Amino acid sequence: MPEDVATADALDEAKAAGVDGLICIGTDPESSRQAVDLVVALRERELDFGSWATVGLHPHDASLGSAALREVDEQIMAGDRDHPGVIVAVGECGLDYHYDYSPRDAQRLAFEAQIDLAAKHGLTLVVHTRAAWDDTFDILRSAGSPERVVMHCFTGGPVEAKRCLDLGAYLSFSGIVTFKGAPEVRDAAVICPADRLLVETDAPFLAPVPHRGKPNRPAWVAVVGEAVAETRGEKPADLAASSTEATRAAFALG
Ligand SMILES: [Zn+2]
Repeated sequence: MPEDVATADALDEAKAAGVDGLICIGTDPESSRQAVDLVVALRERELDFGSWATVGLHPHDASLGSAALREVDEQIMAGDRDHPGVIVAVGECGLDYHYDYSPRDAQRLAFEAQIDLAAKHGLTLVVHTRAAWDDTFDILRSAGSPERVVMHCFTGGPVEAKRCLDLGAYLSFSGIVTFKGAPEVRDAAVICPADRLLVETDAPFLAPVPHRGKPNRPAWVAVVGEAVAETRGEKPADLAASSTEATRAAFALG
């Protein structure tokens, strides 16, 4: 959301909903640069609001290949030098065999390379995986998963959740938990330990019910949190506190 006015409105609305921070996600070198720029600008202006960025190459864009991965690596090094603490993760990266916008070989190579990047720079790895569980686990195991892994926008059921948790990963739940057709995702949210459970918007995608179909926005992470709390039989305030703490741990926000 690079437009200043839109950002200011979205932030005010988020703060009013009790949201006190955000992580802006990069998906290719261009959007990664925008994410870093946005966070740097927010940090100058919003003193009581936490903001961080990720840089990475999404599986949809994996065919951009090694030149794009080199650029991501350079962005991390430049970030360390110019804006320490702004970039907290590599990703989102991973595999998307549902859309197959990039050839699968290119997706796997880019995923492996970004696992190495996260390890090399001591950053969290943000994983996007769709219709590709087996290859995702194979690659994470063989490449040696980094210390902190977030399975973003978790879409599996309890079986996949357990496999992720066994790898030491965090599960991040999105507006999908509010969709009627996703009971298995709610079942996964029930079995996930509180200290490994995150909530996210995936804005501008996946707006939760009752906003489904609209562009998603940071404020609505509270709607996702309430849905997860209800599913788990917890108070929304407790889920908000535990997921905030888990997010701090998952991204080493300190
Ligand atoms: Zn994603």
